[in-house]
Amino acid sequence: MTREKIYLFDTTLRDGQQTPGIDFSVEDKIAIAAMLDNFGIDYVEGGYPGANPTDTAFFAKKRTEKAAFVAFGMTKRAGISASNDPGLAELLQSKSDAICFVAKSWDYHVKVALGCTNEENLASIRESVEAATAAGKMAMVDCEHFFDGYKANPDYALACAKAAYDAGARWVVLCDTNGGTQPPEIREIVAAVIAAGVPGSSLGIHAHNDTGQAVANSLAAVEAGVRQIQGTLNGIGERCGNANLVTLIPTLCLKESYSSRFETSIDTEKLVDLTRLSHAFDELLNRSPDHQAPYVGASAFATKAGIHASALLKDPRTYEHVTPESVGNFRKVMVSDQGGKANFINALKRRGIEVDKNDPRLDKLISIVKEREASGYAYEGADASFELLARRTLGSVPEFFGIEGFRVMVERRFDANGQLKTVSEAVVKLEIDGQRIMSVAEGDGPVNALDLALRKDLGKYQNEIDDLELVDFKVRILNGGTEAITRVLIESTDATGVRWWTVGVSENIIDASFQALMDSIVYKLMKNRSLAGKIAAE
Ligand SMILES: [Zn+2]
Repeated sequence: MTREKIYLFDTTLRDGQQTPGIDFSVEDKIAIAAMLDNFGIDYVEGGYPGANPTDTAFFAKKRTEKAAFVAFGMTKRAGISASNDPGLAELLQSKSDAICFVAKSWDYHVKVALGCTNEENLASIRESVEAATAAGKMAMVDCEHFFDGYKANPDYALACAKAAYDAGARWVVLCDTNGGTQPPEIREIVAAVIAAGVPGSSLGIHAHNDTGQAVANSLAAVEAGVRQIQGTLNGIGERCGNANLVTLIPTLCLKESYSSRFETSIDTEKLVDLTRLSHAFDELLNRSPDHQAPYVGASAFATKAGIHASALLKDPRTYEHVTPESVGNFRKVMVSDQGGKANFINALKRRGIEVDKNDPRLDKLISIVKEREASGYAYEGADASFELLARRTLGSVPEFFGIEGFRVMVERRFDANGQLKTVSEAVVKLEIDGQRIMSVAEGDGPVNALDLALRKDLGKYQNEIDDLELVDFKVRILNGGTEAITRVLIESTDATGVRWWTVGVSENIIDASFQALMDSIVYKLMKNRSLAGKIAAE
């Protein structure tokens, strides 16, 4: 049976740019476009040439090899001809393969935002599409506010879509710009558009996530006949984001109700790169990946209950909706205070640690973990610390270096110019091969100063930790008993891209941070020697 193709259109670099706190440089855009192109997305929308210097520079060259490179911009202004519109000229001159015009399709916006007549807006759509086609570019039209516009004035919304299609647009994209439309409405309105004469094979959907249903709305549109989906990496975008392609793609590929009828340019072989793509993108944004992200999150295939864990290992299909390998993720059985002995043995086995169930050191490890978890440690979120604790208790962690002590000072004073400033300074004393090393560093805060001092001079190990990077640092105050204790979780990574989590607990935040930092460094040294971290290779 031949399957129909669903075209994937990425707007991370255009609509994703609207995300609060995100501002791409030209270099960022080049890197992201290459990631999307390599992955196999059909259309990569790069931005709005002419609207800002970054996008104009980005469109000075074609930035994709396989994917169609798409420029975004307004339809021609009313009252001037297409050939006299400077905005349109910028789009036509950009090194894009296609132009995606944004057009008003709600008569209220035509009147209020454009200040032109409904007929003038239709003429702008037609003439813009014709100008793009004449310039040898593929034309697409994003019908902005289409669903709300349809509800207010169905005839006019349909007329806009028809005008784009009749003028020769390859894709007419129905946008839920405000993001409030519900799946049944999407189905109904898409059906009305098809009935009005725009075939599904020329229709796209652009959904926003304001009710948490951008993915569901995109799939509803596909069900109704649409054959192009617009979305972004990890669902970034204005307000609550756009449809998340990282969720949609595996759903289309792996879920029988779609995969039996549709295909995309991402086959099962490419799909294995999905988790890496999603994490590499977060990396570029300098933010921590969402652990609970569908398919690609660190917790997507994690379980912690004891009974589930043992059944899971016997037959993963009973607890997983797809296999973690199919999207490049991996299964994670977490150690927790709910776990029994079998759970521990399996958790260790998965890290390449063999231990006999009658080994007394195993009982010792279990009691240490339970005791520590009762006092605030959380090993399920810190598998590197768990692995170190296990290897130490079972006797296989080398003594790389010793810590003689550390001291941290925080001073608040007026500087020479009379400005109030807070200075943090840390001193760390280490011992490596009988040699004493003392490092001093100033930092942005006491923990930062301590980290800098600790990693300033590790003697013969210094070049080994050059690529160690702290990605995230989480502090939580726990109210255990009479006084508050602090738990610090640190997420680290290195040049291999592997991530690991370590934990420290103390009544003192600096001390808790120090424990987590030490674990991270020791784990890194173990990992460099293939003495730890085998779990990532699974
Ligand atoms: Zn949008």
